[in-house]
Amino acid sequence: MEFTLTDEQKMIYEQLRSFAEKEMLPTALERDEKQEFDQALWKKLGQMGILGMPFPTQYGGQGLGALTTCVAGVALGRGGADGGTTMTWGAHTILCGVPIWRRGTEEQRKKFLPKICSGEWIGGMGMTEPNAGSDATHVQTRAVKKGNKYILNGSKTFITNGPYGHQFIVIAVTSPEKKTFGVSTFIVESDSKGFSAGKHMNKLGQRTSPTSELFFEDCEVPEENLLDELDMGFVNVARTILAWERSCLLAPAVGGMEGALDKCTKYAKTRVQFKRPISDFQAIQHMLVDLKIFYEVGKNLVYRTAWMIDQGRELEAMQQAAIGKYFVSEAAIKTAYLAIQIHGGYGYIKEYPVERGFRDSRIATIGGGTSEIQKSIIARTLMSFGS
Ligand SMILES: Cc1cc2nc3c(=O)[nH]c(=O)nc-3n(C[C@H](O)[C@H](O)[C@H](O)COP(=O)(O)OP(=O)(O)OC[C@H]3O[C@@H](n4cnc5c(N)ncnc54)[C@H](O)[C@@H]3O)c2cc1C
Repeated sequence: MEFTLTDEQKMIYEQLRSFAEKEMLPTALERDEKQEFDQALWKKLGQMGILGMPFPTQYGGQGLGALTTCVAGVALGRGGADGGTTMTWGAHTILCGVPIWRRGTEEQRKKFLPKICSGEWIGGMGMTEPNAGSDATHVQTRAVKKGNKYILNGSKTFITNGPYGHQFIVIAVTSPEKKTFGVSTFIVESDSKGFSAGKHMNKLGQRTSPTSELFFEDCEVPEENLLDELDMGFVNVARTILAWERSCLLAPAVGGMEGALDKCTKYAKTRVQFKRPISDFQAIQHMLVDLKIFYEVGKNLVYRTAWMIDQGRELEAMQQAAIGKYFVSEAAIKTAYLAIQIHGGYGYIKEYPVERGFRDSRIATIGGGTSEIQKSIIARTLMSFGS
């Protein structure tokens, strides 16, 4: 096992970090305040190849695998300090693109992936419902076959990219009597008859990422948009993407931790109180040490999950992915808390990006499976397979 980055990965990291510093960071505060999704920035991310990084080149991607995609995510999180845009990227590339690439038909890949890679179309995933969050197996959205179409009825909530998305991976019940093994996945296009999206929800953090409800009222989905096997889509897609989600989607949070460590170290060395830089005080040094430990351990956990995916060990990576998700989410929030503490009153003021980092980080222990659910997964794998 070797996690030293290749020269190509180091180059990608430097390029994307510098891109994010120039193109994302300067406008991040204003976009955060206005709760604005930046379409022009999105197009640039497409031109840079970031939106299709893991997908094969024949579909417009870069063919670079999960580990390099994580390196890109860390670089964007580090340079951009814009958790919303990186969350939008994660929902688009990982939650929508990866299932189509890994579980879709050749026709589905050819139709959707090139536009996902270029950013012409924005993707997302609709799993959560008002009455089914952590307990995703109990979704109520129903899909019934009628001729050569499926008719969907129900709603989804908290969906990243909801207001702007062109296609969503949607989870719906097809055979209620089969319970978990009767839930399918569909690619629902936003111009489908009977589909609508709600308003951009007003959020605490990740405000540059649009979030909304999705509604399906006798929504017509052509049968060729069934993703994966009928009734088994939910199980198969979840097995395929969980490790991706719990590595690549967390990578920007690791980048955020790296950025916080850097900002706090510089600030502590220059801020003088009692005629000494505050970095002389052991209390501040201990906080900086905590930030360093969170960043180093978090990065290694995320990279290890991604490395396992690239080795074709996605299923085996399930426990590792849950450990990484739990640790990085909790560490990202603690990092953001300490970053404000080190900056004192200035950290509480919006002009300092640590304030935004504090709000943006809060989603980490909720989205993509809460910390409590990660602990249940780790416990379950421990009871089934031992330590
Ligand atoms: C900004 C944002 C973006 C999101 N983007 C998406 C998206 O793109 N697609 C999508 O499908 N969803 C998305 N979500 C939804 C997110 O995945 C859910 O919010 C999350 O899974 C938790 O579900 P819930 O909110 O219904 O909370 P609940 O499941 O109701 O949980 C409430 C509390 O109960 C705890 N709890 C629940 N069950 C258990 C248990 N068995 N054991 C112990 N504790 C438990 C939870 O850990 C939590 O603390 C997003 C959410 C937000 C806020």
